[in-house]
Amino acid sequence: MATVAASTSGCLSSSQSFSCTSLEIGSGRPAEVSAVITGRRRPLVRLMEGVGPRRGRGSVAPRAALSSSVAGEAAGFAEKAATKLEEVDFEKLAEELEAASPLVIIDKALDLFGNDIAIAFSGAEDVALIEYAWLTGRPFRVFSLDTGRLNPETYQFFDAVEKHYNIRIEYVFPEAVEVQGLVRNKGLFSFYEDGHEECCRVRKVRPLRKALKGLRAWITGQRKDQSPGTRASIPVVQVDPSFEGVDGGAGSLIKWNPVANVQGGDIWNLLRIMNVPVNSLHSQGYVSIGCEPCTRPVLPWQHEREGRWWWEDAKSKECGLHKGNISEDEATPKTGNGAGPAAADLFDAPGIVNLSRPGIENLLKIGGRKEPWIVVLYAPWCSFCQEMEGSYVELAQKLAGSGIKVAKFRADGDRKQFADRELQLGSFPTILFFPKHTARPVKYPTEKRGLDSLLAFVNALS
Ligand code: SF4
Repeated sequence: MATVAASTSGCLSSSQSFSCTSLEIGSGRPAEVSAVITGRRRPLVRLMEGVGPRRGRGSVAPRAALSSSVAGEAAGFAEKAATKLEEVDFEKLAEELEAASPLVIIDKALDLFGNDIAIAFSGAEDVALIEYAWLTGRPFRVFSLDTGRLNPETYQFFDAVEKHYNIRIEYVFPEAVEVQGLVRNKGLFSFYEDGHEECCRVRKVRPLRKALKGLRAWITGQRKDQSPGTRASIPVVQVDPSFEGVDGGAGSLIKWNPVANVQGGDIWNLLRIMNVPVNSLHSQGYVSIGCEPCTRPVLPWQHEREGRWWWEDAKSKECGLHKGNISEDEATPKTGNGAGPAAADLFDAPGIVNLSRPGIENLLKIGGRKEPWIVVLYAPWCSFCQEMEGSYVELAQKLAGSGIKVAKFRADGDRKQFADRELQLGSFPTILFFPKHTARPVKYPTEKRGLDSLLAFVNALS
């Protein structure tokens, strides 16, 4: 059972107390609260039932900003809330809420954690989280990591969101001395040379770690459909597998992923219908938005994560913020050399040639090719290879009689080094097209592995 022993300062107003007992969304909530924003009081505000202009809504005060009189009041609530949280089995709660709407999930999160939870806002479409929080009618907090490398459009968007909801976002900055050390040693764009992890660690992960140490729970905009490679299994609520909360130690922080099961298109429907401000970069083709040097627009047929750290392999496309959600199977091979002995072989179908190592070596020589070939480099234990088996078999059926050969080459275990060196294997599956008259095979460039995308690739090159 995954439980968290925690207390919370509760959903307090600065001048009037109000109960944080569970209320149904949109009904029976207190009509007025006073919210404190980053240490200064805001006037009394009316909580609308999801309609009307964004006036007088705001984040509740950070813990440090609570006055001593309010802190006294908070102690009473903390005691009640502690009892409530100790009784929560978050694994069971995740199962119960798996099919719930984001609104219901966020309402539950804010109800349970009050002032000890905050929304992590990246400056992109996760503004939907703020909209949902606003719709619950409860006070809420928002924080954002300012890495110092964001697009000007993102800063303008932050400002627009603050004005729209009448909130102050709690910006979190990296340690100046660490940024200075990195930039002086390696320059401003070292991530293009040796990967984004070091820079992300300094500018994102450590500041995030520090911010979360002041909380007992956080709300993220992670969705399963954002990255088939790294976000395939995200529960709507979980004991955070990577970070610690204010009490320290494993289990001291709860992570809420209320839009885990929501498709990107549905998020956009919400933003449009509710007239929520959006980052103007979206209209320039950006989908997933992060730091300026590491984000680019994507084409309509490309996956959104292909717009981030595009010079790196799909599996490393997480900056460390959510690495706990990468499953063991996805992150590493099952055995030291990558050979999973128990997994059944894949792509066993008529029309798919099983290439031996001499066979594929022969294909690498242009003289060894009488016709074009498409070859999947795979490992039977790889879940992404398993997922694309159906579309690849269908591709073989479609190409039967076309003069294009379809093949597979198992590239894990003792073949992996060869495949890394000679066949551009970065991650499984890798798909190569060997044109008839060109020496070097062309690597399939996208994570979309449906039949239509595979056919488009073959048609474009043959
Ligand atoms: Fe650095 Fe790029 Fe990571 Fe931003 S996304 S912290 S610029 S590596």
